[in-house]
Amino acid sequence: MRVAQVIIDVKVAKLDNEYTYEIPSSLASLVQVGMRVEVPFNRRTLMGFVVDICEIDPAGIGYKILPITNVLDVAPVLNDELLAVADFIADNYYSYKISALQAMLPSVMKGAYSKVFVPNDLASPLERECYSGEELFKQGKADVEYVLNVKNKIKTEQRVKVLASGEIVTKKDYGLSAQRLKTQVKHGVIELVEVEVKRDVLGISGLEKSRKLELNDEQQAAFDAVTTDDVYLLEGITGSGKTEVFLHLIEKTLNEGRNVILLVPEISLTPQMLNRVTSRFGSLVATLHSALNPNERYDEWRRIKEGDARVVVGARSAVFAPLENIGLIIIDEEHEGSYAQDNAPSYHAREVAKFRAEHHRAPVILASATPSLESRARAQKGVYKHLTLTKRANPNAILPKVEIIDMAEELRTGNFSIFSSQLKEEIATTLESKNQAVLMINRRGYANFIMCRSCSYVPECPNCAVSLTYHASDNAMHCHYCGHREQRPQTCPSCGGNKISEFGVGTQKAVTELQKQFPDARILRIDADTTSRKGSLKKMLDEFGAGKHDIIVGTQIVAKGLDFPNVTLVGVVNADTTLNLPDYRASEKTFELLTQVAGRAGRADKLGTVVIQTYNPKHYAVDLVRNHDYNEFYQKEMRYRKMGKYSPFYYGIRIEIVDKNEDKALKKAYEITNRLKRQLAQSAIILGPVEAPVKKINNKFYYHINVKYRDEALIKAAIREIKDEIEDINIEKLA
Ligand code: ADP
Ligand code: ZN
Repeated sequence: MRVAQVIIDVKVAKLDNEYTYEIPSSLASLVQVGMRVEVPFNRRTLMGFVVDICEIDPAGIGYKILPITNVLDVAPVLNDELLAVADFIADNYYSYKISALQAMLPSVMKGAYSKVFVPNDLASPLERECYSGEELFKQGKADVEYVLNVKNKIKTEQRVKVLASGEIVTKKDYGLSAQRLKTQVKHGVIELVEVEVKRDVLGISGLEKSRKLELNDEQQAAFDAVTTDDVYLLEGITGSGKTEVFLHLIEKTLNEGRNVILLVPEISLTPQMLNRVTSRFGSLVATLHSALNPNERYDEWRRIKEGDARVVVGARSAVFAPLENIGLIIIDEEHEGSYAQDNAPSYHAREVAKFRAEHHRAPVILASATPSLESRARAQKGVYKHLTLTKRANPNAILPKVEIIDMAEELRTGNFSIFSSQLKEEIATTLESKNQAVLMINRRGYANFIMCRSCSYVPECPNCAVSLTYHASDNAMHCHYCGHREQRPQTCPSCGGNKISEFGVGTQKAVTELQKQFPDARILRIDADTTSRKGSLKKMLDEFGAGKHDIIVGTQIVAKGLDFPNVTLVGVVNADTTLNLPDYRASEKTFELLTQVAGRAGRADKLGTVVIQTYNPKHYAVDLVRNHDYNEFYQKEMRYRKMGKYSPFYYGIRIEIVDKNEDKALKKAYEITNRLKRQLAQSAIILGPVEAPVKKINNKFYYHINVKYRDEALIKAAIREIKDEIEDINIEKLA
């Protein structure tokens, strides 16, 4: 009997296995490894992935083997390599196999399927998806097939098929009026056919080609060094021309006939990078990221799968691009937290990239001005090859001057404004000289929170353990975790007094204050609220680049990737927000963010100035930004990590327990902690349980247990067991 091994779509540990199903003869020619099928399971019909096909003797099996009922794909959606990646993820990140498989497909493919009638003279499976004709079926000219419900997913256009030659041309090229087309159809000269056209997601058709720059000596040396299938850490200061090195390496790889994946932290936040790649490689580029609508994503996915696109630029999940013959994987800003997925499967794109690159024998480039401590430590030990760029690429650009302002001192001198006198002066100078400024405030909305000055009451979200953020635009308080929104109270709900007011600064308030100080300045606000519409960030940045605004006031979004020659001032309104996070990486994140945002100033011919406001001027994560001294920071931070037994000296796993009932959550957390302490006393340090930094989100309670270890092999079985036995826990690897 011919059977398929199928992983079914049930996220329950006990059912996360391969199940055997018969391939009935009616489907024999269709079913292939890597396709999705429908199978009966416990009187339900479930979707599943075929991961293997083989012959077995049913006589030797003690149970009845049921047949596959439907095939859901016209061609395999996952090849052998990607199936191996799924195994790697399930095994390494303690996730379900089905979750790992599903993480690799564009969301649209998790959708519905429908019966279509496919004319049997159509050759390509993709062409077939455009058709549906019950009439043809009745005439015996069509077969039944089950395919993804393609309505809206595939864009089609009517074209002219010249019957004499079989040639298909656009109506425009054919050049006849609608009336005369009709006549020709009637006379059997032509036929009107629907053909698939892919959406121009990247706007490639309207893009100007950009010129290749000649590499400087440092860039050339880095380029030349990439010769083997190793992992390289390209550490280059901001503006040192890392991107140009990527572009040269991509070109070289394409010329060798191999393909490229370029990962960026969040594509909607870094439109400039995508522009630079597309303007160099045009229609060879495809992009995969969450800002695309499902249809666009599906089109891009298929352009890659069909081999039309050979350079994939995308965020985290683009590491699963169905690209074959990979010759290079680049991870830009490799230190970014967004490369780690925080819900299951909680994989890290860097590790998946390394796994895929090994399969293809391709080099991996990890690039950053402020590498993660883990990557830098590996480079130091020679596990990665270390490449450095120490100078700005533009020969006239030098690193900006960085000033650190002690805000406590400002208060002492009677300045209660959110802007120090120094920052105000610098803004005035920038405006006078017709240059541009970027100000970063790490909080969207108007104010951090609202508090009653009489009784200290702070309104909190009813669903989450966080205070609400005040937004001036709708005079309401918002929860940034669950979206809850309520009116701002006029009197204190607790003591009834009227001394309730805003505290802290958000982007909205900063804009208001700034506008008061500089009435003529043209200010642009960039945060999650103003950039929620697709393409809006790109539009804003284009306007800023064209000189339509003088100042950007933005959240962390503005720290990344901006490259504008007229930006001479960068201001950080409060450097302490990341420093105070309850995370062992708080210092690293702070240094990174400040260095990155500082790097936005003085990138071309003009000298840049950076003003950082803080209540912790002596903290090394702030102070070392002054000299852009990553190396010194690295040395210092490594000493702390070693003392605290943190990554990269120890690996970490966080087990998160979730429950609607707080007592149950806590009880479960203690059970797991005690069990791990018993089992892993020799091989790991078990810490906790502790409340999660935000203990309650959306009426669910969260507790954490931290496991620190040096050898994963020693703890893997115990962790896996817990994952398999206990529901409602999330396992996340740290670093
Ligand atoms: P990074 O990615 O390291 O921050 P970029 O690649 O954005 O740096 O380069 C910074 C600026 O220097 C860009 O405006 C870029 O066009 C320019 N640049 C890069 N390489 C060269 C080069 N070899 N010659 C001249 N200008 C360059
Ligand atoms: Zn909430």
